[in-house]
Amino acid sequence: MTIEKEIQRRRTFGIVSHPDAGKTTLTEKLLLFGGAIHVAGAVKSNKIKKGATSDFMEIERQRGISVATSVMGFEYSGYKVNILDTPGHQDFQEDTFRTLTAVDSVIIVIDAAKGVEPQTEKLMNVCRMRKTPVIVFINKMDRPAQDSFTLLDEIEDQLQIQVCPLSWPINNGPDFKGVYNIFTKSLKLFDPSIQEIEEGLQFEDVSSAELENHIGDDAETLREELELVEGVYPEFNRQSYLEGNLAPVFFGSALYNFGVDELLHAFLEIAPTPQPSTAEERVVKPDEKNFTGFIFKIHANIDPNHRSRIAFAKVCSGLFERNKVYTHTRLGKNIRISSPTAFMAEQKEIVEKAYPGDIIGIPDNGSFIIGDTVTDGEKIHFKGLPSFSPEMFRYIENADPMKSKQLNKGIDHLMDEGVAQLFTSQFNGRKIIGTVGQLQFEVIQFRLEHEYNAKCRFEPLQMHKACWIESDKPETLVEFKKRKHQKMAKDKLGRDVFMADSPFILQMAQDEFKDIKFHFTSEF
Ligand code: GDP
Repeated sequence: MTIEKEIQRRRTFGIVSHPDAGKTTLTEKLLLFGGAIHVAGAVKSNKIKKGATSDFMEIERQRGISVATSVMGFEYSGYKVNILDTPGHQDFQEDTFRTLTAVDSVIIVIDAAKGVEPQTEKLMNVCRMRKTPVIVFINKMDRPAQDSFTLLDEIEDQLQIQVCPLSWPINNGPDFKGVYNIFTKSLKLFDPSIQEIEEGLQFEDVSSAELENHIGDDAETLREELELVEGVYPEFNRQSYLEGNLAPVFFGSALYNFGVDELLHAFLEIAPTPQPSTAEERVVKPDEKNFTGFIFKIHANIDPNHRSRIAFAKVCSGLFERNKVYTHTRLGKNIRISSPTAFMAEQKEIVEKAYPGDIIGIPDNGSFIIGDTVTDGEKIHFKGLPSFSPEMFRYIENADPMKSKQLNKGIDHLMDEGVAQLFTSQFNGRKIIGTVGQLQFEVIQFRLEHEYNAKCRFEPLQMHKACWIESDKPETLVEFKKRKHQKMAKDKLGRDVFMADSPFILQMAQDEFKDIKFHFTSEF
């Protein structure tokens, strides 16, 4: 098959949701369709239950599982589908955001009873920023749900995207009768005792009295609602979806495997093929001859005795081949990747070739950091892997003076993996760790001890935000750094960061230094 054909048949996407909305269940059902797994329960939720007595065990367990399940590829009806899993726990949201840089589209799962939840909103913000096309799956229709129109309003308001229902539910909860597929004009009846995929009943016209035979009085309600849907929502427009302006919506119940095949079929038909990637130097198209790829995730090995890691690379262009000599652009070094792995559902296997849209795992012992680029020789840097301004800060101190080398190495490695962010105060030289959640501090402490044999201690630090600063006027920057020297730090790449104690202090600095831009992500 030509490389163009390989590109055309690839669909690389992420499934995201607020915890508990049904992401894991839906992923599993999609894999069952693809024949990638054969029994339910094979995909483990990578959730960490906060407060569980064995938090650390949970963390370890999750790390083990998520290596296996962070990428799931399968073949279905001529397509090569790559699902990228994202951690649900909000303390690991940065990991999720980075994973979203490697997908071409997203399916957002929403709990029909709870509607849009905080994490859904944050994830959608990232999609909007990157103009990623999204499809919404409203899940758990077998349980009492909010009114469908209310849900759609909520999505439009809170997720700030126009919606276009492509299926419509008939009741919900105990009265849930099924969904009408607006896309294919067919009705599928819900029967909780059947989880097999069944053909829907075809209806040329919803006014057909035949409908009453299947759903009784609900037929009339369905007709009215469909009329309303037609009047209120725009017709589906693929271009608008691909531009990230319109979200098709499906209703169903992942648990009962209901509405999932409609979702999958529509997804395969409309979802984008691997898209061009923007590098600082130029835009890289998937069908270019030369290979390019970037590292979006690094995973430590579960076996603490072998401190090797897996770097996950997304193929952006060209054909990747095992054992070919490529360039590690940041180090300016030639590398040969002898055991790249591909992920087919539960299994990892060595691959000879990979195409744009594919994800490969590269065994690594410390030469990659997130954002690194591998190419056929060209020196390019892909954009879009920002660090977000952390929300919690602590000084990190060595708790075992005999092990300072191990500690520094461990901190270095963990930061490369993107576990948290490290800043060095320019005032007192102390190391500051910034995270988005408390759990990350626990992970760092635990992993330093178990993988690097080093002990650390955290000391409280009252801090509101770290912002990257920039200005066209070098003299203003110098002046600012002088005035705020107690609050200046460098990030891991040596960039200037202003550590603001409080929103008030930040506001004052912004008011006073109008020529300085304060950025809340590291990429601007
Ligand atoms: P995640 O946190 O988003 O991955 O959510 P899970 O897939 O782990 O689902 C959370 C809980 O909701 C589990 O107990 C599931 O069995 C349940 N669940 C998921 N989908 C459905 C559904 O369609 N109907 C019902 N009744 N329960 C569901």
